[in-house]
Amino acid sequence: ENVRVYEFAEKVNRSVGEVIGVLFALGMMVTKNDFLSKDEIEILAEEFEVEVTTVNPLDELEIAEDHDAEEDEANLEERPPVITIMGHVDHGKTSLLDRIRTSKVADKEAGGITQHVGAYQVEKNGKKITFVDTPGHEAFTEMRSRGAQATDIVIIVVAADDGVMPQTKEAISHTKAAGVPLIVAINKMDKESANPDNVKAQLSEIGVMAADWGGEYEFVPVSAHTGMGIDDLLETILLQAEVMELKANPNRKAKAVVVESSLEKGFGPVANVIIKNGTLHVGDNVIVGKTYGRIKAIKLDDGSNAKEIGPSTPAAIVGLNEVPGAGDELIVMDTDKEVRELAEKRAEYDRAKALSKSTKASLDDLSALIAEGQLKSLPVIIKADVQGSLEAIKGSLEKLRNEEVKVNIIHEGVGGVTESDLTLADASEHSVVLGFNVRPTGAVKKKAKELGIEIRTYTIIYDLLDDVKALLGGLMSPVI
Ligand code: GDP
Repeated sequence: ENVRVYEFAEKVNRSVGEVIGVLFALGMMVTKNDFLSKDEIEILAEEFEVEVTTVNPLDELEIAEDHDAEEDEANLEERPPVITIMGHVDHGKTSLLDRIRTSKVADKEAGGITQHVGAYQVEKNGKKITFVDTPGHEAFTEMRSRGAQATDIVIIVVAADDGVMPQTKEAISHTKAAGVPLIVAINKMDKESANPDNVKAQLSEIGVMAADWGGEYEFVPVSAHTGMGIDDLLETILLQAEVMELKANPNRKAKAVVVESSLEKGFGPVANVIIKNGTLHVGDNVIVGKTYGRIKAIKLDDGSNAKEIGPSTPAAIVGLNEVPGAGDELIVMDTDKEVRELAEKRAEYDRAKALSKSTKASLDDLSALIAEGQLKSLPVIIKADVQGSLEAIKGSLEKLRNEEVKVNIIHEGVGGVTESDLTLADASEHSVVLGFNVRPTGAVKKKAKELGIEIRTYTIIYDLLDDVKALLGGLMSPVI
């Protein structure tokens, strides 16, 4: 929909003249800039033997959205809260995570946490809590910017001897911006210089008033070193989680978020995920961002393998074709065909987006560079069907010059546009490939897209020259 004649011509690698000609033969008058109707597009598609989909690719991307359909309250079950720890550097985020982790090992007779899966779970009063292993607001906000929010509650760690510091404020801003509730852990209480009241006073000044001072935020004094207050902190988290009524439906296809990912010897791509909803099973077909695959193995934080995992459970999953990005969403679909197709669509959409960006940018760049007199020559590669045309085009292009700027033919040849032409174009900044009465093959088009190189094809020499003149802009003196 909403395709102009010249845009269609470009898309199908035909000249504007050919497109207009086809319609003209059928009694339809259009000009270069006219929008094509659906019927006209269908006629042209048939004539040029190309496949046309008039679907907005973004609509297709939403296929998976039935996952977000309204849940029947009856299907929902309580799920563990997912916690991220933030705060100023050296205030004890890592120590606190380690202390909470080892306190679980002490509770458990054997095993403990042996496997790094990006997050871990502990149990308190028979309830589970999931801690994300990467502290800090950078990762948190990076995930959020990608539309993935794994965190239910943020723990802001403030060292009792140091008080509120710049990154404390940042962390609070990021948390509030995300609309995630926060709990303050006043750490290093074992230190003689600890001054928790100072922390409270400083935080109240920036809008985080302690509950025992009449505010709405829980403050828990702790020591990662001695273990003091850790139980209190876990209980406070559970209380907050209860208020939030965190729920999920374990009896549906899983949706998860990637917190980390890597390529591992012997396993291939590994994604550390936290399940947001549903249950993930070994054998499930999943799409994760632009990657996909069938779940081969699910590894838990204690090093054991699981056949299936439910809401808020962190795990490393094996079986993807490539390494996904942090913040990517995992979605289970019915068949491997579905996930592959959706993954391809997403990749195609990204390529198209990148292409439209890079083409535009490069053309804008070109004009700007030429206008500024920085670009002294425009590198072009010309391919034509016969030697005669090639000579004619070459001769005319060489005349398109003045003191400021000229066309620099870096390669010319008879025949179609080849991959090696593209390699050359890629190595020469700001170059354009011009084809006369030749069309690139599908493989070449694909590569050009990937490299962000523009191939322009023509059937009329004047059209070609006009385009190059336009590219060179107002600086051209009216020659030829
Ligand atoms: P992060 O940068 O926020 O992850 O902080 P770390 O966990 O790396 O801790 C920074 C320093 O503070 C380290 O030297 C820790 O040993 C120390 N530290 C952390 N927690 C405590 C605590 O509760 N008491 C004391 N005395 N030192 C602590």
